[in-house]
Amino acid sequence: MPDSPNRSRKVAVITGSSRGLGAATAKRLARDGFFVVVNYAKSRKDGEAVLREVEQAGGKGALVQGDVSNLGGIRSFFDEVDAALKGQGLPASFDVLVANAGVLVSKTFAETTEADFDSLFDTNVKGVFFLIQNALPRLRDNGRIVTLSSGLSRFANPMFTAYSATKGAIDVMTRILAQELGVRGITVNAIAPGAIDTDMNAGWIHSEEGRAMLMSRQALKQVGVPQDIADAIAFLAGPDSRWITGQRIEASGGSSL
Ligand code: NAD
Repeated sequence: MPDSPNRSRKVAVITGSSRGLGAATAKRLARDGFFVVVNYAKSRKDGEAVLREVEQAGGKGALVQGDVSNLGGIRSFFDEVDAALKGQGLPASFDVLVANAGVLVSKTFAETTEADFDSLFDTNVKGVFFLIQNALPRLRDNGRIVTLSSGLSRFANPMFTAYSATKGAIDVMTRILAQELGVRGITVNAIAPGAIDTDMNAGWIHSEEGRAMLMSRQALKQVGVPQDIADAIAFLAGPDSRWITGQRIEASGGSSL
């Protein structure tokens, strides 16, 4: 059988990539030549739109449903990823994992409920932990893992205590995994975005007060867009970042310096 034209392609898996930072990252990595696995939890239509954009720009990818907040969902997600890659003539392995899927709850410490706390920690911490654990047998040596931290794991904002704690956990996990996986040449780094104009922030970022608050804290005087983060992730996913591992790299336009 002739070799598939996909065979030599590097593969990147990006969770939560049907919108926001994940969608921008999938499109950017596809432009860099990766075969991209686009993941959605519920909205197939949004995932299809991202894949269509990838393909219209000359890239290649596959769409895989999966809820990555629990072990059962993660296992079936990777089974589907394996099948999708094989269906494209690719081995069931990949070079880059971007653990992007995440949720946000913005409440005071006093108002945060047990359900809020569990939903945040399930998706942002437990999900990322077991996603990486289940990715490792499939991730090639010298591969890349990029996690999503947040500016909020450095600067204190009382509206985000539980969310910020999940991102603090990501910072620690990232550093320890970098130590553990260095022997395989795998780098593990966290990108810590400041406030970016995605659906996650739709409730405030376009209001006059929201924008004014942001501008008062940021060194760079514009609102960050998903492409700003996708480009930073592309650096960490690519060859030029080979000597960087175990780092939390903030991409926040210089917030709260
Ligand atoms: P978003 O809400 O626009 O997109 C998040 C995506 O994750 C959505 O597509 C959603 O469906 C998906 N997702 C959520 N739970 C999932 C699950 N259980 N399984 C699979 N997919 C799931 O958010 P965003 O702004 O694009 O954020 C992406 C990541 O970046 C998150 O980890 C977030 O915490 C982090 N982050 C965002 C900002 C920001 O300002 N936007 C700042 C710092 C960190």
